[in-house]
Amino acid sequence: MPTIANLTLNNGVTIPQLGLGVYEAAAGQEAYDAVQQALQLGYRHIDTASIYGNEADVGRAVRDAGLPRSELFVVSKVWNKDQGYDATLRACERSLQLLGLDQLDLYLIHWPQTATRKDTWRAMERLAREGMARSVGVSNYTVRHLQSLLATANLPPVVNQVEFHPFLYQQDLLRFCRAESVQLEAYSPLARGQRLDDRRLRRVADKHGASPAQVMIAWALALGLVVIPKSVRPARLAENLDSVALPLDEEDLALLGSLDEGLRTCWDPSHLP
Ligand code: NDP
Repeated sequence: MPTIANLTLNNGVTIPQLGLGVYEAAAGQEAYDAVQQALQLGYRHIDTASIYGNEADVGRAVRDAGLPRSELFVVSKVWNKDQGYDATLRACERSLQLLGLDQLDLYLIHWPQTATRKDTWRAMERLAREGMARSVGVSNYTVRHLQSLLATANLPPVVNQVEFHPFLYQQDLLRFCRAESVQLEAYSPLARGQRLDDRRLRRVADKHGASPAQVMIAWALALGLVVIPKSVRPARLAENLDSVALPLDEEDLALLGSLDEGLRTCWDPSHLP
């Protein structure tokens, strides 16, 4: 079984560096099977969100796996309509109920909503204080959003989960997060499959007898990011997991580091005040 490294967050909690994303894993059997198969293969970190609509299935698969709770790392996120102080507290409770868990390992603000941002973070701090979440963090925050949060927060976010792959190499954000000890997490690390046939990416893959998807994951791991590729297919779950053993060299990293084209496959928070 490939060994997934653990990274230590700024509050001392450890996080498995590779996790399974379940956005668009359909509620019901598809999400249940993907999580169950992933756990059998050796994944221990599952990234869901209330807006994905599959928390109940994720929770059922996690519980049915019969693994010690301490070995699992379950993440969910508060959706935009639930932001604000009281609403965020209620949203976390609902996610816990659906997941059938007492505590989340990580709870994230899904998106930097402007009007409610400060109140939502106050609620996140309370959730961490009261143990509903072992850690709290943010998602889709730019440097600017992080700067304003860090200026007033009592508790800094442990992670910032953003779109990150060789075709969207957010170097300024990575540098800032490293300097502030906020762990950067790469979502859509495969650019949702949109560049898997890039010839430069394929060249690196061929050199290692690996797949382009494995190279994309290995690149983000080599940069020290947490990476959460999504798949609902057992063969791809295994393929993606095997990326942890793919050694990229300096030449590969230089080439992959030159592919940035500002490609956003998801959403762009940079215009938000
Ligand atoms: P990914 O970059 O992980 O790509 C997923 C797509 O690639 C799916 O279509 C999947 O299909 C396919 N795929 C997976 N593995 C392979 C492979 N080895 N070879 C070829 N194709 C492959 O995109 P996501 O947007 O899903 O991002 C991953 C996770 O990040 C999400 O599931 C979610 O948890 C999180 N996320 C968070 C966001 C946020 O705002 N915080 C926004 C977007 C994502 P198939 O399933 O059929 O294998």
